[in-house]
Amino acid sequence: MEKTKLCIIIPCYNEEEVLPETLKRLKAFLTQNEDLLSPESRLLFVDDCSRDGTWKLIKAAAREDERVEGISLSHNRGHQNALWAGMEKANGFFDCVITIDADLQDDVSAMRAFLERFLSGADVVYGVRSKRDTDSFFKRLTAEGYYKLMRFLGAETVYNHADYRLLSRRALKALMEYGEVNLYLRGMVPLLGFETETVYYERAERFAGESKYPLKKMLALAMQGATSFSVKPIAFIWALGLAVCLLSALAGAILLCVPGTQLGFTAFSVWFVGGLVLTALGLTGEYVGKIYAEVKHRPRYFIKDSTNDKPE
Ligand code: UDP
Ligand code: MG
Repeated sequence: MEKTKLCIIIPCYNEEEVLPETLKRLKAFLTQNEDLLSPESRLLFVDDCSRDGTWKLIKAAAREDERVEGISLSHNRGHQNALWAGMEKANGFFDCVITIDADLQDDVSAMRAFLERFLSGADVVYGVRSKRDTDSFFKRLTAEGYYKLMRFLGAETVYNHADYRLLSRRALKALMEYGEVNLYLRGMVPLLGFETETVYYERAERFAGESKYPLKKMLALAMQGATSFSVKPIAFIWALGLAVCLLSALAGAILLCVPGTQLGFTAFSVWFVGGLVLTALGLTGEYVGKIYAEVKHRPRYFIKDSTNDKPE
């Protein structure tokens, strides 16, 4: 049987604390799975313009071991863009790719199961965390609420799956045809179709360093997901506006008939309708902003340096 040529893509932003361990474990994975993997399999690290020694570590690792490669982006472009940069670089050269975070939260050994599913015909394999014990109560609550909201909004996302996944050569090629600038991979991959499988794993704590996803970035990603994949919020605002108008008319009619309550009603209605209008405007603005970004069609990233020496 022909062995699989795999590329593992690892986005890294200020990960010098965890990177030596990540390298060790991923290299061990390649070695331990030589029965399935071709010797041309690679680890592709994408340095998202880290400010610490991440890129130096990647370069040193690449000099030491030919299975390690790296590219460095010219500017910090965020997790989704860094993943895209890695996938674009790997596109066409491998039988399949697996994307995994640098912080070792995703169980490296689950990749064996990913490969087995791939070998039995899957094009897309999702890594799904079986429980969320290691997350803070707050993160768990917001994450679960968010998945439910996305489902309600009509965007197909896989529950408890982040960006730990395998894509076959043809699934990756298809994904690369999406031209949007506002990336939300968790929403885009399910649109591809193809044979899909799921592998469950337990997600650990970050091995070292701290989360590069503070609340602000989490909210931004949540908004990105909602407004890039659904126009339901706009429809909802429309319905809400209509309902409020009807209710206000009714309340107004009642309040007008009760002596002495006219003033209270006026204050209430002005504040309420004002707030509603602002919400609707803000939400519409979110979509307009999105269109603005897409129309400009700016490049997603530039590669500043690569371990293959020549900057690309
Ligand atoms: N990351 C990145 N660019 C950024 C922020 C994060 O490439 O601007 C990488 C980071 O190095 C890690 C992955 O994206 O490999 C996920 O980030 P993190 O673990 O901090 O997120 P969390 O698991 O806390 O949601
Ligand atoms: Mg993490």
